[in-house]
Amino acid sequence: MIKVEGESGSAHCMVEVFSDARFRAMELITILNRCHRFQGFIYQHARFTPDKKTIEISVRPRKGSAAICSRCHQPAPGYDQLAERRFEFIPLWGFFVFLLYAMRRVDCRRCAAVIVEEVPWGDGKRTLTKAYMLFLARWARRLSWKETAEAFRTSWDKVFDAVEDVVTWGLEHRALGQSMPLASMKSNTPRATNT
Ligand SMILES: [Zn+2]
Repeated sequence: MIKVEGESGSAHCMVEVFSDARFRAMELITILNRCHRFQGFIYQHARFTPDKKTIEISVRPRKGSAAICSRCHQPAPGYDQLAERRFEFIPLWGFFVFLLYAMRRVDCRRCAAVIVEEVPWGDGKRTLTKAYMLFLARWARRLSWKETAEAFRTSWDKVFDAVEDVVTWGLEHRALGQSMPLASMKSNTPRATNT
C-alpha cells in the first residue's frame, strides 16, 4: 500500500492505493486532479516508459492562461518555450513518476527581461517537484536520510536537497513551530552524521 500526501497542509489530500490495483492512465490523472490540481495547467496524459519502470505524465498550460513571470510573480506575455523537462513526482505503486513540461519564457515588461515562467509544482533549479521534496523531507524525520533514499529508491543527495529546500521554505515563510519543526530536523541531522 502506498500513501500519497498532498504538498501542503491546506491542500492536504491522501490517497491509498493497493498494489494489485489495475493501473489505468485516466485513473491516475483523476487522482492527481484530486490531490495536485494546479491552476492554469492541466494533466494531458499518462504513459509508461518502454522499460515499464516509470510513469510519465505530460502537463500543458490551460488554454488562455497566461504564464507567470518567476521574478515579479505577475502574468506576462509569452516569448517562447524551452525544451521539455522532467520533474520527479512521488512514486506510485512502485513506479517512478515524472511530470513532463516545456517551460514557457515570458517577455516581462516589469522586469524588462525575458524570464522563465513560474510553475506551481517546482522551481527552475531543482528536478524534484515540491510535493516529492516534502514527501521525502517528512520521511527523513522518521528514518535516516540513507534509509529514506533506499526506501524510495532515490539518492542520498536528493533527500538532502529535499530537506534543505523544505527547511529553507519553512524559514522564509516562518512556518516553524507548526506541525513540522523543520529547523530542529535539520540541526539534528547534519550532513556529516546522517548517512
Ligand atoms: Zn517579471
